[in-house]
Amino acid sequence: MPVTIPCAICDAPIEICPSHAPRRATCSKPCRVSWQRKFEIEPDELLLAVWTEPVTSVAASFDVSDKAIEKRCKRLNVPKPPRGYWAKIQNGIPHREALFELGWLWEEIEELGEKLAVAEESAREEEVVPA
Ligand SMILES: [Zn+2]
Repeated sequence: MPVTIPCAICDAPIEICPSHAPRRATCSKPCRVSWQRKFEIEPDELLLAVWTEPVTSVAASFDVSDKAIEKRCKRLNVPKPPRGYWAKIQNGIPHREALFELGWLWEEIEELGEKLAVAEESAREEEVVPA
């Protein structure tokens, strides 16, 4: 069953499949372009996103290009998984080992672990706040 939600830019009603994140929804190409320009994300949210799924999937869920995600990571100083990371994860190699095999130093892996823990903590706090 599709659900009707307002366009993120012009409020026109649009039907979407409920499994799509509401933030994806714009009614037309011009609205989508405006939405892409407005693409806003907190560094913590971006950090969690890029370490949860490949950039292509993150980009799709925000309805922006891979490039937009990459540029934003750079601008917000958010570390992203190195090339080859997701292939290793898919092959069952644990996160830390995958990074080590891809040339990261243990120090860098530890530092990332701390950043991710902080980001997860603040994401949990946000969930507690009633909408
Ligand atoms: Zn619209």
